[in-house]
Amino acid sequence: MQANGIDPSTGFLDRDSCLDLLGRLASSAAASRQMLAALWIDLSRMKQVNESFGHLGGDMVIAQIAQRLREKSAGRGEWCRMGGDEFVCLIPHCDAEHARQLAQDLLQTIEAPIRFGEIFLHPSASIGVAILEADEDPFVFLERADRAMGTARRQGGGRAVASGEEPLPGRLGVLLAREELRIENQLHLALENGGLSLHYQPIVGFDGRIEAVEALMRCTVDNEHIPPGKLIPVAEKTGLITRLGEWSLLAGARHASHLNNAGYRTKVAINVSRAQLSSAKFGQALHAALLCANVSPELIELELTESLFMDISETVQANLHTARTAGVGLAIDDFGTGYSCLANLKDIPATKLKLDRAFVIVLPHDRRAFAVVKVMTQLGRELGMTVVAEGVEEQAQLDALREAGVDAIQGYIHARPMPEDALLEWFRKRSAA
Ligand code: C2E
Ligand code: MG
Ligand code: MG
Repeated sequence: MQANGIDPSTGFLDRDSCLDLLGRLASSAAASRQMLAALWIDLSRMKQVNESFGHLGGDMVIAQIAQRLREKSAGRGEWCRMGGDEFVCLIPHCDAEHARQLAQDLLQTIEAPIRFGEIFLHPSASIGVAILEADEDPFVFLERADRAMGTARRQGGGRAVASGEEPLPGRLGVLLAREELRIENQLHLALENGGLSLHYQPIVGFDGRIEAVEALMRCTVDNEHIPPGKLIPVAEKTGLITRLGEWSLLAGARHASHLNNAGYRTKVAINVSRAQLSSAKFGQALHAALLCANVSPELIELELTESLFMDISETVQANLHTARTAGVGLAIDDFGTGYSCLANLKDIPATKLKLDRAFVIVLPHDRRAFAVVKVMTQLGRELGMTVVAEGVEEQAQLDALREAGVDAIQGYIHARPMPEDALLEWFRKRSAA
């Protein structure tokens, strides 16, 4: 039973009163040019609670959470119950930043466990946030908060999503956040108009030989440089990584051929992503690149991130063998960052182990890290691999790595990644010296 537009179990305004109030708050916000925020909150799994504990139990949970919401918002905003397990909070004079912060605080308070006799219930919620726009219909405004909540729920709940920040379908139909959408667009432009290039970073052995050069992707569109850390995840999400990967495979192989023709018989290490290696067409792409670039397979090495080895599918295993049989080297990249399964390591036909920069930056002071590096190096050696340390910037790090038995070093201490011309110049100067 409801009296005076108040929901009895929570003490919040009921739906009709909420809509009345919304009209009044929106008019007054428009007249005084003040902000108005709406949070739409949906509790998760209330259906299960009702099934397990009956409707009385469900009501008790709702009442307890309503109490928490009221306390957390500390008199800011008007609370409404829109139906079963959905609430709205209308907050005058509240900008997007504060609304988002309040949504986070509310999520946190909702998530505190609720005791049911011997059982602890772990509530959670999805929250949509909207800010009233100039001349906007108040109902459209509230609908935006509802829709943003729907997005938060589809993303798994336990989160807040602001209206206008919901993911949108990109060119290839994959749902992307705004920034990702922008990057996807830049990537298409780069692929179509030639904004991609490779920079090369030498890997230098302790014996003075150039072990290899690593090819690192660079992407520039309209004078904006997009770093690999942003570009690769979007490419992987959209599937564009296959095209990017084929491009870098061919460009890297051509570079190996150029170096060889210039008299520097150095391996070029090319990064390969999980998606590429999981494709049944990878072997074809590899052979095509070797053929087009007219390069000997011994001059190519593929860098595979350690995460790839968590579970190796038959296709991946077959692709690794195709590469090795052809004579292409295989390096395990970013080794030691937490994904490798040592049991898998013995089955991978890798020729090189690249220790992650995380171990290097704490050297030489962290003696435990030093011990780990030493043991990983021994392990790599025992398995017949060349061991490389990545991201070396200081002489003291280099000295520690030499002591640990590492074979070769990649890092700013020797050279930063550079374009092809600059690399040739670097080689020339080095030979002259
Ligand atoms: P990665 O393969 O581990 O490459 C090494 C990264 O460490 C490069 O960053 C390099 O510039 C950086 N680095 C090298 N020496 C130093 C140093 O002394 N100090 C510091 N602070 N950093 C150093 P970059 O070029 O930004 O590439 C980041 C990652 O993006 C790469 O990590 C690789 O996983 C990925 N990536 C780059 N190009 C490609 C590509 O063509 N295909 C795929 N799938 N991934 C790529
Ligand atoms: Mg790499
Ligand atoms: Mg690496």
